[in-house]
Amino acid sequence: MKDRYDYLIVGTGLFGSVFAHEAIAKGKSVLMVEKRNHIAGNIYTEKVDGINIHRYGAHIFHTSDETVWEYINRFASFNNFINSPIAKYGKEVYNMPFNMNTFSRMWGISTPAEAKAIIDSQRREIETVTNLEEQAISLVGRDIYEKLIKGYTEKQWGRSCTELPPEIIKRLPVRYTYDNNYFNDRYQGIPTEGYTAIVEKLIEGADVVLGEDFNLDQARWRSLADRTLYTGCLDEFFHYSEGRLQYRSEIFESERIEEENYQGVAVVNYTEMDVPYTRVIEHKHFAKDISPVTWISREYPVDYEKTGEPYYPINDERNDSLYRRYRKLADADGSLIIGGRLAEYKYYDMDKTVLSALRKAEEII
Ligand code: FAD
Repeated sequence: MKDRYDYLIVGTGLFGSVFAHEAIAKGKSVLMVEKRNHIAGNIYTEKVDGINIHRYGAHIFHTSDETVWEYINRFASFNNFINSPIAKYGKEVYNMPFNMNTFSRMWGISTPAEAKAIIDSQRREIETVTNLEEQAISLVGRDIYEKLIKGYTEKQWGRSCTELPPEIIKRLPVRYTYDNNYFNDRYQGIPTEGYTAIVEKLIEGADVVLGEDFNLDQARWRSLADRTLYTGCLDEFFHYSEGRLQYRSEIFESERIEEENYQGVAVVNYTEMDVPYTRVIEHKHFAKDISPVTWISREYPVDYEKTGEPYYPINDERNDSLYRRYRKLADADGSLIIGGRLAEYKYYDMDKTVLSALRKAEEII
């Protein structure tokens, strides 16, 4: 370790790591501090039994941004994985996103005109939209709502769809083609060596301290560098002086199964309320890893208080206005830089995280 650095970066997730790479490329010295005992934040993957396990939920890289795709391909080679999840409702199995395969299984029909006629007739029951249930029915009709949206969404948010705001689902992709590709993006894939290997390459040249919480001794850490990039929660940075921001969290329960192929696909959504988890991920299908055994993870949505892991910001009026107060305090600090999904209190896909870190680096360094 040196006595002093140009940048202290709090958090070794994708945002901090892209920023670190850009700073080092411009000849700056970088110290990174990370409270977990591993790098890579939520995109951390770990190889067990020859299988790359996504420890913090399934991560599929997808983007339509040429710059981001070229950039990330400098640090990894991607396979041709296409996300085509399955939804299970009792013994019924449906393709996602909602497309002609879904409709034909649900109603025994085969043409787009037949599917449109059924959905249109069901949508008409809603006259005004005041909650998520009405919003969903007005977009895709009651059958799809009851079987594929209601239970999943209520488990995800821990509240009834009639109590959730309609804004959560502004759009629901409905395709009148037989196309199971979940994303519409131009590029999609999984890095063949896992995501941790990308971060290892990004942060080459930085000094990294693991297992240390920056917020326990901010003054000491900040005294080590001219400027600090903070990618953690902003309310935590200010020791909750204005109140706590709310999040939704998840428990990822992983299990090794002595079976070669457990569910035949990477992602299965469980859409009924009686099953307590929302998804089961079978990791080996992301990169067609060869192994006589398999690893699965069940995802249980829970309150933030249960895990202390902030996964999804709850961007309602109360939280957004509280965030703005914290942001004002942060922006008044001349040597502090804010970035990433936690510090910005925003859900960002990986491509948006990369783009946002590149922009921040261009602006600052
Ligand atoms: P993080 O990865 O959270 O990194 C922040 C880091 O800061 C963490 O390592 C944290 O430990 C550290 N830190 C925080 N506070 C402190 C502190 N006080 N001291 C020291 N260290 C600290 N995107 C996609 O494109 N495709 C997907 O399929 C996809 N799936 C997702 C599934 C889930 C369940 C979730 C939650 C997100 C998913 N994402 C996906 C989004 C993706 O995870 C994010 O875009 C990306 O991880 C954001 O990177 P980040 O650096 O901003 O945050």
